[in-house]
Amino acid sequence: MFRVRGIQISLHSLFFVLLAYFCYAGWHDGGMLGAWWSAATLLIFFACIVLHELGHSFVAIMFGVKVRRILLTPIGGMAQFDSIPRKPSQELLITIAGPAVNFVIAGVLWFTVNFPDDWDYNLAMGSIGDLGRTLLVWNVVIGLFNLIPAFPMDGGRILRALLATRLPYARATFWAATVSKIIAVPGGIFELYKGNYIVATICVFIFFAGEAEYRAVLYREQHEARWLEMQSRPPEGPTAGEPPLLGS
Ligand code: ZN
Repeated sequence: MFRVRGIQISLHSLFFVLLAYFCYAGWHDGGMLGAWWSAATLLIFFACIVLHELGHSFVAIMFGVKVRRILLTPIGGMAQFDSIPRKPSQELLITIAGPAVNFVIAGVLWFTVNFPDDWDYNLAMGSIGDLGRTLLVWNVVIGLFNLIPAFPMDGGRILRALLATRLPYARATFWAATVSKIIAVPGGIFELYKGNYIVATICVFIFFAGEAEYRAVLYREQHEARWLEMQSRPPEGPTAGEPPLLGS
């Protein structure tokens, strides 16, 4: 779509399916105005997510990390970094910056916008006056949701970074992934029991995301260990004096 300080902001094609669905749902509830309102609230929601991801990105850039792009998918945003700093304090600050942006926006709205007394609102059909309130509610929701201490949410990374100040990185990831599973299993069973299938599916996703993160860290560490070992080993075989092989 566009670039912010060299970071490309991209939309996943499925996003348009979601937008079409929101327009249809709005139109079904309240005609043309409903469709516009529904589309506007969705776009505002994703604008808040872009700001959240930019929060992560700007702090990452401060630590010398290259940020390629921010990809928006129907299930949320994702800032793609070339590398993640291993210093727990840096990872902690990069991770906290995302939810912090949402809480700052919510705080500014709270103190600047004069809200009506009734907090009864309908996301599908509203007025321009409700826009500020929708923005406030969504920023609080995005901020809090991301603080749940489970992968792939920011809270999982914050927990890992805190543990990594005392433990080796892989061990810290193991315990953070274990906490993810401890949250996901009873949460998933409870939501299934209550009939919230979407939330139950998210719990299944959280369970596997924790495991995937731990495996990725283990793989990377083993890879690095092997590379270091190869570096320290004296060269074997006829290497010196041999002509370089040209690739075909
Ligand atoms: Zn985040």
